[in-house]
Amino acid sequence: MPEPDVDVLIVGAGITGIYQLHRALEEGFTASLLEAGDGVGGTWFWNRYPGARFDSESYTYGYLFSEELFDEWVWQEHFAEQSEIERYLNHVVDRFDLRRHMRFGATVTAAVWDEGSGTWAVTTEDGTTVRARFLVTATGVLSVPYLPDVPGLADFGGVQHHTGQWPAEPVEFAGKRVAVVGTSSSGVQVVPTIADEVASVEVFQRSANWCTPLNNRPITPEEQAELRAGFEDLRQVLNTSVHGFHHPLNPRSAFEDSPEERQAFFEEMWASPGFRKFTSNYIDILDNPEANAEWCAFIADKIRSLVADPATAEALIPKDHRYGEKRPPYVTGYFEAFNRPNVSLVDLRETPIVRVTETGIETTDGVHEVDVIVWATGFDFGTGAMLRMGIVGRDGLALTDHWAEGPTTFLGIQTHGFPNLFFPGGPHAAAGNNPRYNGDQVDIVTDTLVHLRAEGGQVIEVTAEAEQRWSDMIDRAAAATPFGTIGQYVGGNIPGKPKRYLLNAGGRPKLFKEIARVKDTDWAAFTITP
Ligand code: NAP
Repeated sequence: MPEPDVDVLIVGAGITGIYQLHRALEEGFTASLLEAGDGVGGTWFWNRYPGARFDSESYTYGYLFSEELFDEWVWQEHFAEQSEIERYLNHVVDRFDLRRHMRFGATVTAAVWDEGSGTWAVTTEDGTTVRARFLVTATGVLSVPYLPDVPGLADFGGVQHHTGQWPAEPVEFAGKRVAVVGTSSSGVQVVPTIADEVASVEVFQRSANWCTPLNNRPITPEEQAELRAGFEDLRQVLNTSVHGFHHPLNPRSAFEDSPEERQAFFEEMWASPGFRKFTSNYIDILDNPEANAEWCAFIADKIRSLVADPATAEALIPKDHRYGEKRPPYVTGYFEAFNRPNVSLVDLRETPIVRVTETGIETTDGVHEVDVIVWATGFDFGTGAMLRMGIVGRDGLALTDHWAEGPTTFLGIQTHGFPNLFFPGGPHAAAGNNPRYNGDQVDIVTDTLVHLRAEGGQVIEVTAEAEQRWSDMIDRAAAATPFGTIGQYVGGNIPGKPKRYLLNAGGRPKLFKEIARVKDTDWAAFTITP
């Protein structure tokens, strides 16, 4: 009977995987981690495109498990840029001595459950296999870049990169003619960041988005001192907040205020940092179409006031969705960039892309000659990474078959038929500030492993009933929310992908409630085998 090489094998050295490794070691398990990239960071390793930065406040996104760590890392800006985030994650890894448990450049190609030994055999591209009692895939929801199937992609003679697979070596932009394809969270960060140095940027937009200002700025020394003094309060707020943000919910409905008060409140929102415009807006901003329309009209007016050319301004105002039906991007100087003579919009609704040629992108009105193409075209959200890992559970059940119609899970951490496999931060994770609820999931995974050990068990698997109950809740909640019902969260951006809600539409409150129930019922939702 093959013995495991390690108790816990984690895949992915992003925010979730690093924390899972730390927790497993802390609890006395042997643990190691495989990472496809050459370094630590996950999302924040691969997305090193110009302008990549947090749109959650830095100190709410970082780890909260150690006050010493919180004290010693001095974030420079309210919304840190990618290089600082990558430095932070490397610091965490070294500070907690995690690097020696990690193997980089290790892409998992197969993970097969062996019923006889109760272990996972996990094989990487180089042909080596690690056997683990528990497999934790912390591969994230935004880790498989999506490149549209545009004819001629390979014919392009210039430089082209996807934002989600940006190279480590610098990409030369100075004096270049650049195309940015995609105008969601990634594309809108790239455009204003490169506008200064390039000869031209043509922004290829299929759908406009409800962009509002990030309102980033450096953290002042006084704010640094307040943050340190307020650590316990901040941790308490973040660990219990519905969205994982520190912004308070606003109990007021839009029409409790007069039109003048509403205008003043929207101005306040517009000037507020990041997601505050989402989480602290009127309580009915998503659910009441009229409230939503008022906020959209306010943003549309802002766009008209910021963009000098009226036709460009109109094209930049979304017409096909309400605020919040897609995840809203946050911007710094995006609309203003279109007032520069070297920045222009290509409206793909008017002139769709026909093909990529050797010299540029051909649309129905001709070839746009460029030197560099930035593909900011998104990801195979939620299930993309897990479905590419060759995961095979009990009785030869492939995860690709089990989830052929979309994922079913319990708590977004386990699925029936795949014993001892956990996937915190994967499909059915709650919506909001990712590290917070991904951290909740890592904690319940770790508590589950500790519980199993205390019970003398070797194998743990969620029951089909518990999984059904949780997945039904997700489907019911998804049917009731307008949030993220268009685009990546329902698989809408990938041709042929089953359309099913990929987040936990019940949010963090449902997660908390079910985690409490798991503990109160002594893990009755799981089957434990000695
Ligand atoms: P995305 O939201 O999926 O947007 C992809 C963009 O590419 C959309 O504008 C889409 O247009 C366009 N596109 C896709 N296929 C196309 C085609 N064939 N032709 C032309 N345009 C095409 O991807 P993303 O911007 O990378 O953002 C993904 C997620 O990453 C975000 O929701 C967010 O969670 C995260 N993110 C966060 C930050 C941050 O600030 N922290 C920054 C970047 C990303 P359509 O809308 O018409 O499909």
